[in-house]
Amino acid sequence: MRMVPNDVRTPSLRAGIEALVGHLAASLGRIEDQLDSDRVSRPVEPGSLSAYLARNYDLEHGHAIGSLACDVFDMLYSGIVHPNHRCHFGLFVPGVQAAGVVADTLTALLNPQLGAWWYSPAACEIETFVLNAFLEKLGFDAGEAFAHFTSGGSEANATAVVLALTRHFPNYGTTGLAVSEKCPVLYASEQAHDSFVKIAHMTGIGRRAVRRVRTDSAFRMDVDDLRQQYEQDKKNGASPFLVVGTAGTTAGGAFDPLPLLLDFTQETGLWMHVDAAWGGLALLLDEFRPLLSSIDKADSVTWDAHKIFPVPMGAGMFFARSQADAVRAFGVEAGYLPDPQQGTVDLYGHSIQWSRRFIGLKVFLTLAELGWKGIASLLRQQTSVAQRLREELLHAGFSIVNQSPLPLVCFTHPRIESGAHSADSIGAELASQGRVWLSAVSLSPNRPKALRACITNHRTNEEDVKLLASEVTRLLR
Ligand SMILES: *Cc1c(COP(=O)(O)O)cnc(C)c1O
Repeated sequence: MRMVPNDVRTPSLRAGIEALVGHLAASLGRIEDQLDSDRVSRPVEPGSLSAYLARNYDLEHGHAIGSLACDVFDMLYSGIVHPNHRCHFGLFVPGVQAAGVVADTLTALLNPQLGAWWYSPAACEIETFVLNAFLEKLGFDAGEAFAHFTSGGSEANATAVVLALTRHFPNYGTTGLAVSEKCPVLYASEQAHDSFVKIAHMTGIGRRAVRRVRTDSAFRMDVDDLRQQYEQDKKNGASPFLVVGTAGTTAGGAFDPLPLLLDFTQETGLWMHVDAAWGGLALLLDEFRPLLSSIDKADSVTWDAHKIFPVPMGAGMFFARSQADAVRAFGVEAGYLPDPQQGTVDLYGHSIQWSRRFIGLKVFLTLAELGWKGIASLLRQQTSVAQRLREELLHAGFSIVNQSPLPLVCFTHPRIESGAHSADSIGAELASQGRVWLSAVSLSPNRPKALRACITNHRTNEEDVKLLASEVTRLLR
């Protein structure tokens, strides 16, 4: 690497941006033209990059931003799994489009603070406008409901648990759970996202408070088991407060039976949260909307824009039926901040975050550029490419082990089932060869892991899924 010493004491924004834009314009061609023919990932020896950094960056003296940008770009280009690559069949990380990159650049440039409305009215209003469009898709009443952007689905799920605890245990926010003599418990299926384990740890209810409800052969929550666990918990003196319905499980894309869960929560008075972090995309395609019927009656919903829109991370979203719970949970008075302006919402007093970056701009610009119609057509294409993959795999002697209609395909092979090969070693071998990238997944504790291919990139086409099927077949020989 050749670093250029920085002789400008305070580099101007203009010089920095010109250098960066020049460099990025040159690299963009490389990203777009080469990435698809280049590897989706390269093996990285642990320790090699830290040694490189220690050798080249003494941090004592400054360097010109242009040379730094070139160097960092090269490190990233060869040192990450590339979600923009057509043969990336990974973990819900979409390929990005220009609108999202432009939005994050503008956000960094103007650096609006969205913690309080009066600080950045234009940015706050853009977020409200785009969130209202999502509320409409959910069927929530925008006049009553409350929504904000989050770093991701984990933060949105944590928000839901805190609101549910605050409503069910009036002492939770004052004296804390130690004063409540009953043991709070929540229900989530054995396929639910493991963020709930961390959230139980952080909120002080403890990891054992997460009751894992059995799933059926299609990995959907078994409502009979939910009822039985609930009755048992009541008998034992525990205090159930929340049911999490997962709409689109992370491992296999299964949808819990939301209407049945809703009946149950209405009957028992429990909070109903729907984790639709990825599966929320079903709301955007008419043919899949029935998978989410009743979501409009939930108390809260998690939905990640960064899993379904071609935008950079992180862009999660949290939706709640009413704002009052958020004020009760997160309301504070900070002596160094002005009072909220009449008719506006200061998010620092309604959510977990305090300082807030302009997360919503990339979602807004992408939606404004493509429209719901454009987004739907990208998703529909991913769905049809996934269907093509299922056909290729069945033809080549694999079997499909999940039943999701969405673009997520979990599959196995007699040679994996017999133990002659493992999904993990196939995944690792593919990653080291770098032509395609996919993961291994454990769907049932007593079965060998399967392979999991998710079509999260709108650029992925039928040739790419053919390559995937033939690469896996080759490794099984
Ligand atoms: C990805 C995912 C999460 C976590 O979201 P992050 O954005 O990664 O924090 C939560 N729930 C489900 C169902 C998910 O798929």
